[in-house]
Amino acid sequence: MSILNADLHCHSIVSDGTLTPEDLAARAAANGVELWSLTDHDEIGGQHRAAAAARAHGMKYLSGTEISVSFAGQTVHIVGLGFDPDDAEMQRGLHATRGGRGARAQEISSQLAKVGIHGAYEGALRYAGNPELVSRTHFARFLVEGGVCKDMGDVFRRYLTEGKPGYVEHRWASLGDAVRWITRAGGMAVIAHPARYRFTPTEEYALFIEFKAHGGQGVEVVTGSHTAAEYVEYAVTAHEFGLAASRGSDFHSPEESHTDLGQLPYLPGELTPVWEVLADRIQ
Ligand code: AMP
Ligand code: MN
Ligand code: MN
Ligand code: MN
Repeated sequence: MSILNADLHCHSIVSDGTLTPEDLAARAAANGVELWSLTDHDEIGGQHRAAAAARAHGMKYLSGTEISVSFAGQTVHIVGLGFDPDDAEMQRGLHATRGGRGARAQEISSQLAKVGIHGAYEGALRYAGNPELVSRTHFARFLVEGGVCKDMGDVFRRYLTEGKPGYVEHRWASLGDAVRWITRAGGMAVIAHPARYRFTPTEEYALFIEFKAHGGQGVEVVTGSHTAAEYVEYAVTAHEFGLAASRGSDFHSPEESHTDLGQLPYLPGELTPVWEVLADRIQ
């Protein structure tokens, strides 16, 4: 069934969102979401709360996360869905992936200090709901609230991205490790927002081929990070690579996100939705 209001990608205060898992669940339910997943970056600490809140609102739930991966010199995000949130190997892997964020945040802060922006580390920490997960988003909020930048887009155009002050090269998990943590815990690995990366066609092809070779099975087609033209483009890609298709808003915050929970077009009918493959993992 492609006609299902599934939203399988969003963030809470456990990573870089601004709402609690409970408030996200309430918002998703109010927006008509029927099947939901909370996919915090490199962290599954909110999973039991999210599943309970989904149940309280009569929504179906799939466990979720979004793992940061380094591939061909860029950061790629791999969404995991339907895994066992108590799986020890996956918890260890995510803990290790989060591990480098503290030193990275200090380094981001010293770079910003060199261009006259002081106290960014402490500033970002004030916005972080989880001290193990200080992300560029928290620095961006600090820069907007302090009047340095006018909005989040302005921050990432002027700071924190390659070639700009506050950009720190970072080594995340490997593609194979991320896919294996998810699949060995009983879940499905899904390439998040593929149109967002700046790969050459050859690099993108390698990403899809290697992802499949490691056991990856899905790709996001309809996401808040894609244009309508990109829905069509990646529907074709999903079909060509024999991948199941996912749908998710990538909602972070009522003030910042353009796409609200559950407010996306349905998946194209000819694709296999991830929730069909994951039917027995739905709570
Ligand atoms: P990090 O994992 O610390 O590298 O932070 C990445 C996060 O920054 C992403 O998950 C987004 O939430 C946010 N982000 C990256 N680029 C942008 C952008 N251009 N506009 C708004 N948020 C962005
Ligand atoms: Mn984010
Ligand atoms: Mn992402
Ligand atoms: Mn995301």
